[in-house]
Amino acid sequence: MQPSGTKNNTDLENTRMTSITNFINNTRTHSESSRTAPVYNPATGEQTGTVTLSTADETRSAIAAAQAAFPNWSKTPSVVRARVMFKFKELLEQNRDKLAELISAEHGKVFSDAMGEITRGMEVVEFACGIPHLQKGEHSLNVGRNIDSDSLMQPLGVCAGISPFNFPAMVPMWMFPVAIACGNTFVMKPSEKDPSATLFIAELLAEAGLPEGVFNLVNGDKEAVDVLLTDERVQAVSFVGSTPIAQYIYSTASANGKRCQALGGAKNHMVIMPDADPQQVVSSLMGAAYGSAGERCMAISVAVCVGDEVADNLVEMMKSEIRQMRVGPGLGVEPEPHMGPVVSREHQQKIISYIDSGVEQGATLVVDGRGFKVDGHENGFFVGPTLFDNVTTEMRIYQEEIFGPVLVVVRVDSFDDALKLINDHEYGNGTALFTRDGDTARQFEENVQAGMVGINVPIPVPMAFHCFGGWKRSVFGPLNMHGSDGVRFFTRMKTVTRRWPTGIRAGAEFSMPTMK
Ligand code: NAD
Repeated sequence: MQPSGTKNNTDLENTRMTSITNFINNTRTHSESSRTAPVYNPATGEQTGTVTLSTADETRSAIAAAQAAFPNWSKTPSVVRARVMFKFKELLEQNRDKLAELISAEHGKVFSDAMGEITRGMEVVEFACGIPHLQKGEHSLNVGRNIDSDSLMQPLGVCAGISPFNFPAMVPMWMFPVAIACGNTFVMKPSEKDPSATLFIAELLAEAGLPEGVFNLVNGDKEAVDVLLTDERVQAVSFVGSTPIAQYIYSTASANGKRCQALGGAKNHMVIMPDADPQQVVSSLMGAAYGSAGERCMAISVAVCVGDEVADNLVEMMKSEIRQMRVGPGLGVEPEPHMGPVVSREHQQKIISYIDSGVEQGATLVVDGRGFKVDGHENGFFVGPTLFDNVTTEMRIYQEEIFGPVLVVVRVDSFDDALKLINDHEYGNGTALFTRDGDTARQFEENVQAGMVGINVPIPVPMAFHCFGGWKRSVFGPLNMHGSDGVRFFTRMKTVTRRWPTGIRAGAEFSMPTMK
């Protein structure tokens, strides 16, 4: 592998220290909080900003703004709400480069990857543009003689979103476009590690014509989150992050009478059958394991090889591919690195300690990413791509989510053993199978216990019009993100059964009816 790029760093690497505040009622609002957190450029290790850690009262004032905006917004016709989404989509397209730079500068991922994240988020905005159709509800004529029934899909009120660091644009866009399009108002609490992209999105929403108070953003940590989980004005909480926090969010929100969807961590396995095309497997695995430095909830972190021959071949090919990898800052280097730094010094150290534990527990360290340095970026939070072979199920590097550029190879004898391995793991977010055999693929699709399944597709992230979410301890709550689940999550059904006495039939309107 090659450390890449020591020159041509963009100005973003040397930005002045920014102060990242809240956004309430379409205005950046100064915080009175005495608590702040540092924001870093992971490529240099330098602090570039300070983010407000909002007080409970500030969080309550964001909820109050959302509460005040709800009556009018919820009565706004769905076509009008959709038009704001269309405009927002247009602004996202126009400001895509700037947004991608903000993501890269605080998260560390390479620019093209940040652009990809924005595309996936924009697809949810496109989905939300279809809300007049999606929120039509249900109608049955003559459920009894001359009696009709309608199921109305009404918005809930104030909804809250709490997002992780790894997709500061996409994950918030899994949540609020659907919520707002359905007529709810929203309070977003982004990750305190890379909050600028979400703040910029809030400004684009205001520019798109979203009325004051419909979308509000509070930066902060547990203090702000706990208000969102307990304040009785908040009706629903949408969360994405690590499993222990997801479980806490789900149990606390539910205990306080809110509906909650809480997506957690992952350990995604890719099964490689002997009949799979080796080159296709290796190309897919390289991107899926090391793209975004492995900090994706859909990253492949376990390669399950069926048979020693498959494993020997895979490890040799991966070793040579890893040697070709370019690792460097996410911005300002040509050609662009394949992989950037990880998000923080703390996370870098955590990943390294996982690698140490793999060695201590007897796995074969094929490529060691510890001590990896990029020239000119010696203080950056880099970890080199790491590959372990002969990993077994009792090792921590197999059991736990590392969330870094560490791929472990597990050897099994049969497809059934591979399937059992996946089904026995505590997580069940995504999984993939590489094979040319339809029968094996069918067995896998039907019997694997994971929420998102790829057949010869390494990262099977569902499109916005399908639902995103895992199984087992990768998710808490019955409804997943976007698609039909998203609309169901952010609306509640009211079923009206109606009978009219026979009577007047008059007052015809002859001009073309329009929405007013
Ligand atoms: P995290 O759980 O540390 O933080 C997520 C959010 O929760 C942040 O906004 C944070 O401020 C807040 N938070 C943290 N501790 C809290 C506490 N004690 N009380 C209340 N709120 C708290 O997650 P992260 O490190 O930002 O993100 C990485 C994790 O997210 C990984 O586990 C990854 O798998 C997961 N993730 C899952 C999905 C998915 O779709 N399942 C998608 C993206 C990320």
